[in-house]
Amino acid sequence: MTAAGFDGVERRGLMFVLSSPSGAGKTTLSRLLLEREPGLKMSVSATTRLPRPGEVEGRDYFFVDKPRFETMVKQGELLEWATVFDNLYGTPRAPVEAALSAGQDVLFDIDWQGTQQLHQKASADVVRVFILPPSAADLEKRLHTRAQDSDEVIRGRMSRATHELSHWAEYDYIVINHSVDDAFAEVQSILKAERLKRERRTGLTEFVRNLQGQLEK
Ligand code: 5GP
Repeated sequence: MTAAGFDGVERRGLMFVLSSPSGAGKTTLSRLLLEREPGLKMSVSATTRLPRPGEVEGRDYFFVDKPRFETMVKQGELLEWATVFDNLYGTPRAPVEAALSAGQDVLFDIDWQGTQQLHQKASADVVRVFILPPSAADLEKRLHTRAQDSDEVIRGRMSRATHELSHWAEYDYIVINHSVDDAFAEVQSILKAERLKRERRTGLTEFVRNLQGQLEK
């Protein structure tokens, strides 16, 4: 799990988790991160939910039926999984392991249940970020603007938001999404700082040893 850092010092890949109530802007922030941060790869989840208009198989999700999902669980193919809004969602293990061992960081858009499971498995490598909407009115507006779900589904998502919010304190960082630009800058800063953490930078000992060697000459 080592990546060459931007400055040539090797480091361990990290798992960057974004969670939020749906409608808080997490999808936009994930897209911006992937566009602007080289070395970051999205973990594409499997789900039993039906595709929304515009969603693409293999890019947004792997859409599977319940028996297939259950087989994946039984065969240990999922790193974590949970029931969200009556559907099953889970993270396929193999692509995450492949990305980390190829020296990439991995971005996860998963809920608090999945975040807990990832953290139990690999706490040192997991960075947890929770995105909050600035107000309930803002959240509702975004859910309607997205126009991908029926009114009934939106009502369900609003009432579930209260429950999701209650898990905010299980996260390392909290970003309040007043504006996409500001929230993005904050999330990007978190990623940059976490990449620089000493414990992740496995190549530092060698780097400093070389530096000392040069100084002693
Ligand atoms: P949506 O149906 O709006 O795409 O996603 C609903 C919720 O499921 C979101 O909060 C999203 O973060 C969460 N989710 C998506 N994929 C996964 C996954 O693989 N595992 C878990 N635990 N949650 C997921």
